[in-house]
Amino acid sequence: MSPKKKSEYAVPKLKDFSTAALDEAVKDLLAAVVREAREVTSESDWKIFRDRWMARANGFLTQVNTLWLKAAPKDAKRDVGQRVNEAKKRVDETIAAALERMQTAASASRLDAERIDVTLPGIRRPLGSEHPVIKTMNEIVAVFRDLGYSVEEGPEIETDYYNFEALNFPPNHPARDTQDTLFIANQESKPLRDRLLLRTHTSPVQIRTMEKMKPPVRVVCPGKVHRNDAPDATHSPIFHQVEGLAVDTNITFCDLKGTLDHAMKALFGSSVKTRFYPSFFPFTEPSADVQISCIFCGGRGYRDGGPCRNCKASGWIELLGCGMVDPNVYGFVDYDPKKVSGFAFGMGVERIAILKYGVDDIQLFFNGDVRFLEQFA
Ligand SMILES: [Zn+2]
Repeated sequence: MSPKKKSEYAVPKLKDFSTAALDEAVKDLLAAVVREAREVTSESDWKIFRDRWMARANGFLTQVNTLWLKAAPKDAKRDVGQRVNEAKKRVDETIAAALERMQTAASASRLDAERIDVTLPGIRRPLGSEHPVIKTMNEIVAVFRDLGYSVEEGPEIETDYYNFEALNFPPNHPARDTQDTLFIANQESKPLRDRLLLRTHTSPVQIRTMEKMKPPVRVVCPGKVHRNDAPDATHSPIFHQVEGLAVDTNITFCDLKGTLDHAMKALFGSSVKTRFYPSFFPFTEPSADVQISCIFCGGRGYRDGGPCRNCKASGWIELLGCGMVDPNVYGFVDYDPKKVSGFAFGMGVERIAILKYGVDDIQLFFNGDVRFLEQFA
């Protein structure tokens, strides 16, 4: 019987107040309380059980008082009183013991649930590590930091002025067509130079740096850039560049060559050679593309008995662009081109990471696949 149901026990009216009849009634009463106590399994059970027996209004003990003690004839009252008191004491004890038994069981099961097995192996949380692109970018920055360059950063959302105009791309300059630019929408009402776009190179940081700093300037500008390119194995709409700028008196193309030759050796090993090819960028004059000797075939153009795929058998890999800062650019930042000269260079971080780590698809850097990324940890 659940304690929630009605009790099977009822306090009987006594007709006979003899010792024997009283003993019999007390025996039934105690048997009932012990039986009900055994069925208590929770604290709420126990409260129902307690109230049934102890409630002042109509609990079994109150009924015992009324039906047995008050109803007893005068000459039996003393004896009945004694037995009733003893019985009440036993009932009290039984009810208290039931609560204790239940609380002990509950705390034992709680302890059981909270048991800690100190012999189990701990939970090891894997340590994070640098993303290969960030790692490569930091390596490039470190090479130039060792040469005395400081780091400058700029906004990813740029104005047309900083991204193009101040870098000597006038409006309608054909070089703008080579950069598939992502423009921010609904800006037709603004003058062209104030319109916002996602920067297509880190070069605007050069302008921002020269605006706030007088020569000598030696900075590298690492950061994220955007082009409207469909993603494939070699293209991504987001990639990273490290741009460099050095402006001082008497800086020559020799300084540029020496600096980049040193940087490529620091990044790819001391046996790497560099060569410079004429090129064109609006903000440098003269401009050059830099090639390094192929790190896969050692510049021989062939390996494993066949032509080298990585350099298309040429022995050279094109890696970055550079040049002497175009004197027109100094006009935008209030430098005197008769007094200062300098060079600038820019390289794609993913391109360098692909070469360093032998990755064959640029998308792997952006997919977030832990199986790929953890190889660089
Ligand atoms: Zn090669």
